Amino acid sequence: MHKRVVILGAGPAGLSAGWKLAEKGCKVEVLELDSRVGGLCKSYYYKDYTFDLGGHRFISKDPELVNDIQELMGDELYVSPRKSVVRLKGKYFYYPLAGKDLISKMNPLTSAKCFADYLYVSTKNRLVSPKEVSLEDWVVNRFGRGLYDIYFGPYSEKLWGLPPSKISKDWAAQRISLLNLWDVFLRLLGKKSNAPKTYATRFYYPFKGGIGRMCDRMAERITSNGGSILLNAAVTRVKMNGKGIEEVSYRQDGKEKTITGDIFISTIPLPEFVRSIEPAVGRRYVEVADSMKFRSIRFLNILIDKERISENTWIYIPEGKFKVMRIQEPKNWSPNNAPPEKTSLILEIACNLGDEIWNADEDGLARHCCDELRQLGLLNGERINHKFTTRVAHAYPIYTLDYHTKVNTIYELFDGAKNLIPIGRQGLYRYNNMDHSIKMGFLAARHITDGLPKEDIFKIASEEEAFEADEDGKGKSGR
Ligand SMILES: Cc1cc2nc3c(=O)[nH]c(=O)nc-3n(C[C@H](O)[C@H](O)[C@H](O)COP(=O)(O)OP(=O)(O)OC[C@H]3O[C@@H](n4cnc5c(N)ncnc54)[C@H](O)[C@@H]3O)c2cc1C
Repeated sequence: MHKRVVILGAGPAGLSAGWKLAEKGCKVEVLELDSRVGGLCKSYYYKDYTFDLGGHRFISKDPELVNDIQELMGDELYVSPRKSVVRLKGKYFYYPLAGKDLISKMNPLTSAKCFADYLYVSTKNRLVSPKEVSLEDWVVNRFGRGLYDIYFGPYSEKLWGLPPSKISKDWAAQRISLLNLWDVFLRLLGKKSNAPKTYATRFYYPFKGGIGRMCDRMAERITSNGGSILLNAAVTRVKMNGKGIEEVSYRQDGKEKTITGDIFISTIPLPEFVRSIEPAVGRRYVEVADSMKFRSIRFLNILIDKERISENTWIYIPEGKFKVMRIQEPKNWSPNNAPPEKTSLILEIACNLGDEIWNADEDGLARHCCDELRQLGLLNGERINHKFTTRVAHAYPIYTLDYHTKVNTIYELFDGAKNLIPIGRQGLYRYNNMDHSIKMGFLAARHITDGLPKEDIFKIASEEEAFEADEDGKGKSGR
């Protein structure tokens, strides 16, 4: 039980592993590149305002995991209602689609085409098994060409910066809630009133301090149980031999330092990990690692002199003419995210590391995006008090069509490395939500302390349909 475990990265995956290991008496040391813990689940504070790196809601279909998070957060946890809308051709459509909305807002010819396309693919797929390789194939086979052309296609292209025909269907299978148009039709006739099973109508969120509070609490569990978290400590080299990792080097305060341990958990981006291995791995692996890209996000956070802009948790903007992809109003996540008479917005703009959005000057980007907000009808002359941008380079691992071949090639490198456990969104290059990363952290800890098979960790978020839990019946809405 006194194993020395070195964890690379202090996002939800690394922190959750460290929390459970430290509680079991392991000597935990976490190396984190940034000056704060949390990874993508950090929150930023300005006066009385809180901004996540894009609002983060916590849901899980795993009751054990939910219990652990409830125990960790105590009365800091809030249950928030979820309201999502899609803004399309000047109208706001509630999601899940509601019959009333479709009739009153969508052009009758367009909705008729969507239903006809849906009926066509549903019937065709019963007769002939469809070819399915890309995100485009997957969506068209399930929803029909009409809905793809209006919503899924343009939104996916904005998110990935690539045509959906170049993105693997695996991403869609795991991440798009199955919207059954037959269900929509029944709801329209009043034969069904509940939300689809795949849609969580509520979510957990810290009452104060944003999603970052959850990571802060995990970090406290590590340090209060004798573990240590080294900040501003960038992993630079991983010395490996035939059996596993010998030592890890990191740069802190301008000095190169090394650390040894019995076991290493890596949650840092997989391509970077591969490039840091010493002696260097074969050229083939480096080339594959170099081709594994991440989509980045620039966030524009604005403070507005108005009590509220809308009631929505998420506003999706699929149309390509707008740079903004998704908008959140933090006050709708927790009332404590903005002062009582004021509100704020987080605008997400997808980009690539180093491109013109990533490098855009803050004032110019804000002017452009506020203009878009006016066109979208979300700003109407209100005073903007302050604005600032935040960025994440490794937001979304890009599931290209050869995704499986690439990750499986890289995973070969770890076959003989007994004392290495790669986990998390970055560590496995897998589209994890935070619950998946936390669960991987817990299972990695159980592998070390109780001998749970490593394979159990890698199964998380890999199932065909890993999308959302139905949160109904757990907790009450509001505090
Ligand atoms: C815009 C957006 C919105 C999201 N919304 C939700 C949501 O609502 N709900 C949800 O469940 N999930 C959401 N997610 C996903 C969630 O953020 C991730 O699943 C989760 O943060 C992954 O945790 P992780 O620990 O695996 O990785 P990360 O959070 O990325 O942590 C990795 C850590 O490694 C550190 N690191 C990197 N390189 C080095 C190095 N060389 N040396 C040392 N440290 C290093 C990083 O600084 C970071 O702290 C969202 C993601 C994005 C991008």
